[in-house]
Amino acid sequence: MNGASRERPLLEIKDVAKRYESHQALGGVSLDMRKGEIISVLGPSGCGKSTLLQLIAGLALPDGGEILLEGAVISSSRGMQPPEKRGVNMVFQDYALWPHLSVFDNIAYGLKNRRMDRADIRKHVGELLEMLQLVGLEKRLPPQLSGGQQQRVAIARALATQPRLLLLDEPLSNLDMRLRIEMRTEMAYLFRHLGTSVFHVTHDPEEAFAMADRLLIMRSGAVDQIGTPADCYALPASRWAASLLGAINRIEGTIVRTARGVGLRSGSIVIEGVGAEAFAEGSEAELLFRPDDIVFHGSGEAEITVAAETAAAYEGGRRQGDDRTTFGLTVRHSTFEGKRWRIVANTDAGQKLYLLVERQLPPGTPITVSLPRSAAYIYDKSQERG
Ligand code: ADP
Repeated sequence: MNGASRERPLLEIKDVAKRYESHQALGGVSLDMRKGEIISVLGPSGCGKSTLLQLIAGLALPDGGEILLEGAVISSSRGMQPPEKRGVNMVFQDYALWPHLSVFDNIAYGLKNRRMDRADIRKHVGELLEMLQLVGLEKRLPPQLSGGQQQRVAIARALATQPRLLLLDEPLSNLDMRLRIEMRTEMAYLFRHLGTSVFHVTHDPEEAFAMADRLLIMRSGAVDQIGTPADCYALPASRWAASLLGAINRIEGTIVRTARGVGLRSGSIVIEGVGAEAFAEGSEAELLFRPDDIVFHGSGEAEITVAAETAAAYEGGRRQGDDRTTFGLTVRHSTFEGKRWRIVANTDAGQKLYLLVERQLPPGTPITVSLPRSAAYIYDKSQERG
């Protein structure tokens, strides 16, 4: 990567802005993408993902900034290169196949336009049929295919002309869950194997994790965080990124001084060592964490009796280990999720938390849980919610 990282980026998005009447859909987005890289743009509906994709594809004109592909400006407010001249292909959410053309002819379409020799077309399409497990289906029309097969044809068609950049717009959102998991795994393998440069847009964090070398997390038309999936998961840059990446549990509280330092207090729960030192005493903050980071220790009086090595540190209904905080919750309800039950439980201050437990717990059951400090992210409460 050392040499490659000094090379000119394949795609340079420089402070790109786009407004629709009074609505600022993109407010200055910048990103450099390497050749062969897979970038996944992640964000909820309406955050500007498709707008960014359309600007790269040449389907819309930016109001500000510019986009360069292999060093040449392809879009700016002054004008743009026509989409068909960019060497950029797109796979759409609804596949957009030619319904009256066979699988073979759909895939061969761009090659015929380029007047490729017929024998070469047959060879090239044959390789793509093989690669995308479509052998035997070449004579069928798109309406005679399943959703997953149609999506494979759309990918084969987009790869056929060996684009400089492949754009994927929510490519799996019309497929059922099992197929989505299968397809995202296969696509991640295929694009890496071929060295395809991919700019992928999705609202699904799991799809983005499975596909991306780097994530671009968007919020209200702006970049919230850029980083590898692992880095973004471990250290979300904002409360927005944290909740998007699964940290849906929230404890709101006040920053207090404790015997051992500074912590966040909410009702009887005091959580120390989570970065509360960065906040002024008395200020309002919130702690975000994921359901699967809460450790369930037991329910009812008998089970709540803590293990001997930590019992010494138990005081006043809560236990402060060096690396975790233990506290009590009351179960509100449980839903079955296959391997585990998702428990909804309240803190004594009435805040609702989710956790995953291997058995069902009746409403009203007192439980003891702990939260590892490293799993909690603290944010200023005044930080705007998305
Ligand atoms: P996403 O792909 O993340 O769902 P979009 O890029 O489609 O978001 O849209 C970003 C914002 O711009 C949304 O608020 C949307 O309503 C608005 N928008 C998108 N396209 C248009 C358009 N053609 N005219 C007016 N507003 C639009």
